[in-house]
Amino acid sequence: MLILPKAITLIKMKLKLLFSFTILTFVFTTVNAQNLIRCASTEYQQQQVNLNPGLQQIFDQEDLTTAAFVANHQDGFTPQVICTIPVVFHVLYSSSAQNISNTRLTDQIAVLNKDFRKLNTDANLIPSVWQSIAADCEIQFCLAQRDPNGIATTGIERIQTSTTAWGLNSDMKFASSGGANAWNRSKYLNIWVCNLSGGILGFAMSPGGPASTDGVVISYQYVGVVGASAPFNKGRTATHEIGHWLNMDHIWGDDGNACTGSDFVNDTPNQAGENYGCPSFPHTDNCTPAAPGVMTMNYMDYTDDACMYMFTSGQKTRMWATLNGTRSSIKTSNGCTPSTVGISEELMQNMFSINPTPTDGAFTLNFGSGSTANFDVSIYNILGEVIFQQHYSALNENELHLNLDGNTAGIYLIEVRTTNGRTVKKIILN
Ligand SMILES: [Zn+2]
Repeated sequence: MLILPKAITLIKMKLKLLFSFTILTFVFTTVNAQNLIRCASTEYQQQQVNLNPGLQQIFDQEDLTTAAFVANHQDGFTPQVICTIPVVFHVLYSSSAQNISNTRLTDQIAVLNKDFRKLNTDANLIPSVWQSIAADCEIQFCLAQRDPNGIATTGIERIQTSTTAWGLNSDMKFASSGGANAWNRSKYLNIWVCNLSGGILGFAMSPGGPASTDGVVISYQYVGVVGASAPFNKGRTATHEIGHWLNMDHIWGDDGNACTGSDFVNDTPNQAGENYGCPSFPHTDNCTPAAPGVMTMNYMDYTDDACMYMFTSGQKTRMWATLNGTRSSIKTSNGCTPSTVGISEELMQNMFSINPTPTDGAFTLNFGSGSTANFDVSIYNILGEVIFQQHYSALNENELHLNLDGNTAGIYLIEVRTTNGRTVKKIILN
């Protein structure tokens, strides 16, 4: 639901006042009888503003900048290049159950790559009335391949801690309080996985917050798929929280059950309050009393994981406002590029060139006058998986012809390794 930009700051102030009241009365809206809290982002950010009142002005400015971008892209936004966000998981554990498996974490990345690209298989459940606005957000994720010092990493940091449960605060984000320090947020999305107390599933920091606390926190029970706790076992807690990290609000506008609040997205229906469980379609409320009703299957509602499966085109534009604004540096991060530890990358940068990129499939590595004897070529997909590897003892005409036909469109990394070291370059497959 859209409300004109100039009204935003006033509405936000009203929401903050409303919210302050909520904090004072210690009321949390809970998911179900288990007293779970689907998302504590609003509460967390208000807490951060209370600790540092200057933050409010920064968040307000962020919203104004976003509103201006949205106003300039009323018909939607299509990026020239898909954005790939390097992710680091900081797994904090005090028991083996909390030290979740690599599979849970790679499954989580796979879920994100489906949800943000509209490749999720349950997208076929999107009601026909909203199929035309269901968005491929053109955002994808990879586990970091190099740490902030350029050293090879799996993108998974595991830290044993004596803290058995973590509260709604920033303790897990600092080594000094038993947690893990954030990696440079201009290059990485930090995701802390830990045992959150109070039944909280997760919370996020919106763009504009301090670098040291930037990122997303998810309780370990709700990360990934196999082994996660139903009905939040399809990885959608992360999808929702990363939505906040990219400056999306809750779809109902955080206004209690009023119809005055907004998520500042023009193609989502006006919605009274959050929805839980798995509402059947159409689901109406007092803000949208007629069919098709409200969009309970949106990732920014509070429904069960199996019952949320879409972002809209308007939400995509809002996310890209952030990716073209405050978080623009993430688009050129080398966090997904395999590490070249101990090797002078600059010395080898001219070893070969790639033509063409982007490519429709076929491409050529041109080695110019450089040595082309005894080297290995590897091609990695964005998850760091090797999809091609070959040793070459010699070449004709210093050229190597390769083909990515049959692979998914996106970014691939070409690594050439010689006895002198290795270098890695990107290629985009259309
Ligand atoms: Zn939320």
